[in-house]
Amino acid sequence: MAIRSNWNYPTAVRFGAGRIAELPEALKITGIRKPLFVTDAGLVNLPVTQSALKLLRDAGFEVGVYADVKPNPTGANVDAGVTVLRAGGHDGVIAFGGGSGLDVGKAIAFMAGQTRPLWDFEDIGDWWTRADSSAILPIVAVPTTAGTGSEVGRASVITDEKTHTKKIIFHPLMQPKLVIADPELTIGMPRFITVGTGFDALAHCLEAYCAPGYHPLADGIGAEGVRLVFENLPKVVDNPNDIEARGNMMSAALMGATAFQKGLGAIHSLSHPVGALYDTHHGMTNGTFMPYVLVANRSAIEERIARLAAYCGLTPSFDAFLAAILALREKLGVPHSLVDLKVPNDRRDEIGDMAVADPSTGSNPVKLDKALAVQIFDRAYEGRV
Ligand SMILES: [Zn+2]
Repeated sequence: MAIRSNWNYPTAVRFGAGRIAELPEALKITGIRKPLFVTDAGLVNLPVTQSALKLLRDAGFEVGVYADVKPNPTGANVDAGVTVLRAGGHDGVIAFGGGSGLDVGKAIAFMAGQTRPLWDFEDIGDWWTRADSSAILPIVAVPTTAGTGSEVGRASVITDEKTHTKKIIFHPLMQPKLVIADPELTIGMPRFITVGTGFDALAHCLEAYCAPGYHPLADGIGAEGVRLVFENLPKVVDNPNDIEARGNMMSAALMGATAFQKGLGAIHSLSHPVGALYDTHHGMTNGTFMPYVLVANRSAIEERIARLAAYCGLTPSFDAFLAAILALREKLGVPHSLVDLKVPNDRRDEIGDMAVADPSTGSNPVKLDKALAVQIFDRAYEGRV
């Protein structure tokens, strides 16, 4: 049973198996005549990508391809893509892939007509108003993983290679005009990527749900996203061809990114520096940190997590929820400690500083100061929940 659905929230989404066939139509709707197709180096030669490109060429589109994108993409990746876009006279971007292809594609469309450097648009205060909105090109997003949710988001995470920090580039018009959410595109993901990206979606839903502040919309979306991951991530790992479960994971991913407008928390505060310094997989790193951060935040979220546990069909308590997270990690092979993730502890002090400075830190349920960040890091290193 394959579900097909059109949503207009939080942007236009065409959801359902096989809907990649509508990519040429998506370009017509968004007014793109000469697209730049942006994806990452690992994906560009795979059949899933080549058949999408063939669809476009068969429909008469002259399409450029830019795939010089690293797994943790850098400012240089964006700048080089902007050069290719300008040289080719492209009037819009197809952002195709996992987090890196989507984030770089969105950033290239954003930067296409700007005169200031990328880092002037970091998500700080009202810096986004520095941009010339009229020069931002339209974006069609096609996720090939179920995790980042960047396909519906208004920001890109790009590594500043000078400072080795992950920075968030934000502008409301970076949200793709149209998303094709086709779960068939995720079937070929290696198990490691299925699990890692699934844990990223879980971290987004969970951290948004736990972030302080009044935001019942985000809370509702986050809670349902957590439930969908619990129910469907084990299914897609057991049976990669389970298209209904793949679809539910794809939904959970875009729900996570919708919910985290409310805020993220210390899972991401710690995962960002570790990913920037050691090039670890973002979602796997989140999965490793998750239980340690839950425990560190316990005093502020105990009641809220008990409610979430009840919604997910568990005993309504913090301990039951924590146990379910630990069991899911173990079943799916998420590294339990930073040692298992192959992250050394010789830069723990620097990571503590970077975690405090991370944009996710302000919305952690308890105040994340350096001492607490280093304490969480140490416990995660030792595997001591
Ligand atoms: Zn994330």
